[in-house]
Amino acid sequence: MNKQNKTEHLGVAGNKNIHQDWRVASLILVHLYIIIHLLLWYVFDLQWWGKTAMMGIPSLLAGHINAAAVMVVLIFGSILFYGRGFCGWACHMRGVVELSDWLLRKLGIPKYKALAKNNTLINTRYRWLFRIGAIYILTIGVIVYWVRNKYNFYIDMKSPVPMADLPGYNNLLFNEQSPINLALHVNGFSYVDFMYGLSGFVFIWFVMGVVFNYFYGQGAFCRILCPYAVLLTPLMNLNPLQKKITRVADCTGCRKCSNNCPQGIDVSREIYHFNGKVINRECIKCYNCLDACDDGVLEDTGKPAIPQVIPRKEYIKTPWLSETKHLQIPEEKIGPVTDFFSFVFALFAGSLFSILGGFWFYVGAIFGFIGFRKAASLFVAASVEKG
Ligand code: SF4
Ligand code: SF4
Ligand code: SF4
Repeated sequence: MNKQNKTEHLGVAGNKNIHQDWRVASLILVHLYIIIHLLLWYVFDLQWWGKTAMMGIPSLLAGHINAAAVMVVLIFGSILFYGRGFCGWACHMRGVVELSDWLLRKLGIPKYKALAKNNTLINTRYRWLFRIGAIYILTIGVIVYWVRNKYNFYIDMKSPVPMADLPGYNNLLFNEQSPINLALHVNGFSYVDFMYGLSGFVFIWFVMGVVFNYFYGQGAFCRILCPYAVLLTPLMNLNPLQKKITRVADCTGCRKCSNNCPQGIDVSREIYHFNGKVINRECIKCYNCLDACDDGVLEDTGKPAIPQVIPRKEYIKTPWLSETKHLQIPEEKIGPVTDFFSFVFALFAGSLFSILGGFWFYVGAIFGFIGFRKAASLFVAASVEKG
């Protein structure tokens, strides 16, 4: 496999892929860690340390300082110094999103191939409302539950067991009301139960990764829906010494970096307008831009940028106002009103599904979002045809 093919799934067109090899290794290690942790905890009954995941947010809300809560605090702290490196290198969901992207490219589905070819990322005007709505729905139940029941502060790195801070947890994989479930304790499940629960989880990931990517381009979950982005992005750009993607040599303005950013950041524009730095809060430090730049112009550093010596052609500051220049394009035939109501409908559908357990929220929200928008597009197309 040549280097070009190796990095194909990551959208990298340049010749270097050193960062991507390390990053893929890191994302695989995160999943190995999760598997080993679950096996130790549930199969071998070795409960040394508790859950380490974004589920630490429910724990923090419940006043429980456990391993997950500590991890969340460390992630937040790391952003002040390194930016959202956690997202690019250690978030297991990012691994799922990128694996889905790789799978869709390998399958060669024409629609996805067309999106991937030009790094087309479909986006929406009100995604911030969507993300805020998602974090509200995912946490409000926890807050109400713990305030009403037994809000108590304690510190214990081993306790509680994974997911126990979510209301409706009853030693089950999903909420106790979910029809698809799995008893989570040693000797509590057969292999059939295990496969049943695992299938439910794989289905949720499939919807969050493959289905969402298929309709909205690579990394759709991170760009449009991830509720944790709401908590992570305000911490970006607070520390003037925070490491950022920075121009460390003269830039030719070729835009290879921009065309390879999976988050749709116009890197070339950012370093042109913001003192040689990428200040966009959506940067997940994946380093695709570094790898794509044949001239080695970019580095992740807290040091000031090198001044541009050869003047670059004037660069438009608001490329999103020009459809042909912006990397993230709005969906065809979706106007602002439909756009807004698609969020409302998606959040409603997500809320209904979340009765089955937190993760089912995403299935409901994604199907609601896609379904509403597709129906609206068909309706508009039919009206135009009639008119
Ligand atoms: S945006 Fe969300 S899902 Fe994506 S990498 Fe960051 S925390 Fe993970
Ligand atoms: S940073 Fe590199 S890839 Fe990006 S526009 Fe400049 S020379 Fe091209
Ligand atoms: S700006 Fe560079 S490091 Fe940041 S998300 Fe885009 S490609 Fe990745």
